[in-house]
Amino acid sequence: MSETKAYAAFSADKPLAPFTFERREPRADDVAIEILYSGVCHSDLHFARDDWGMSRYPVVPGHEIVGRVTAVGGEVSKFQVGDIVGVGCMVDSCRHCKPCEDGVEQYCLEGFTMTYGGDDRQDGTFTQGGYSDQIVVSEHFVLRMPEGIDLASAAPILCAGITTYSPLKHYGVKAGDKVGVIGMGGLGHMGVKLAKALGAEVTVFTRSEAKIEEARRHGAHHVVVSSDEEQMAAVAETYDFMLDTVPVQHDLNPYLGALKYDGTHIMVGLLEPIEPAIQAFNLVFKRRVLAGSLIGGIEETQELLDFCAEHDIRCDVEMIDMQDINTAFDRMQKGDVRYRFVIDMASLKD
Ligand code: ZN
Ligand code: ZN
Repeated sequence: MSETKAYAAFSADKPLAPFTFERREPRADDVAIEILYSGVCHSDLHFARDDWGMSRYPVVPGHEIVGRVTAVGGEVSKFQVGDIVGVGCMVDSCRHCKPCEDGVEQYCLEGFTMTYGGDDRQDGTFTQGGYSDQIVVSEHFVLRMPEGIDLASAAPILCAGITTYSPLKHYGVKAGDKVGVIGMGGLGHMGVKLAKALGAEVTVFTRSEAKIEEARRHGAHHVVVSSDEEQMAAVAETYDFMLDTVPVQHDLNPYLGALKYDGTHIMVGLLEPIEPAIQAFNLVFKRRVLAGSLIGGIEETQELLDFCAEHDIRCDVEMIDMQDINTAFDRMQKGDVRYRFVIDMASLKD
């Protein structure tokens, strides 16, 4: 067992505070990792504050982890001490069901093991995440950081990045396709960069005129102010794909109308009922598809890291110290972050 320093949420209504707990000794297939950077995802905030009614405490959030290997178990073959690696939203799955065999562990029939807030499949211990100085993970769920990738800005690729990349790949976005990206937060700005790198012509849909310049800076070819009915009417039946990153309820009908026939609207942000109702007419008359997608598998996440290194794609991040996490949570709740906070875990040593 190894003593681990961390910051944890102790209840839904209290700020995160220092916490010490024990990590397991590496098992035969485990990799022990000293954490260098930890991205701050909206899920962390929701989990800490029990917004989904499933939280247990104390919980150490964090599932966008970059670190250095400090020890490996006897059967580990992919990593050695000193390697720079990453851990995302999953630390285990059943590994034998069809989705696991297909490399889409996020759809494991038995449910994947969450990096934090879950139960370890072997010893039943509560999993604790990346707001800590070290983590122990089975090598199957550890990613290799490619040569040349900027480590600090790479952490959010492990959640925000893969959440947008996986559906773009699955639905076959390719050079020349017209892609709309709805919303310009942590997910949206990565969606723009990734769709553009795949060769698509990218349009950002935003309600805020203030975000037009930002969208162009991230490489968007066009920007449509979605609250402007004239602008929306002008892009009717234009897009092959629509990547919808908005996490709150919003009217899908105008966006469905902006798809070509056979176009696909992919939802990655919203987890609540869709309201107002969808006019089935908007789907039926143009054979349009409405789809959802959750993060991405381990193999695909590795592919994405390599893709980001090759194309020099970075998440826009604001570095913070561990001690600043409660301020960061408050700012995130107000949408005051461009676009991801990343904790420099060296600050935890202070
Ligand atoms: Zn996340
Ligand atoms: Zn499985």
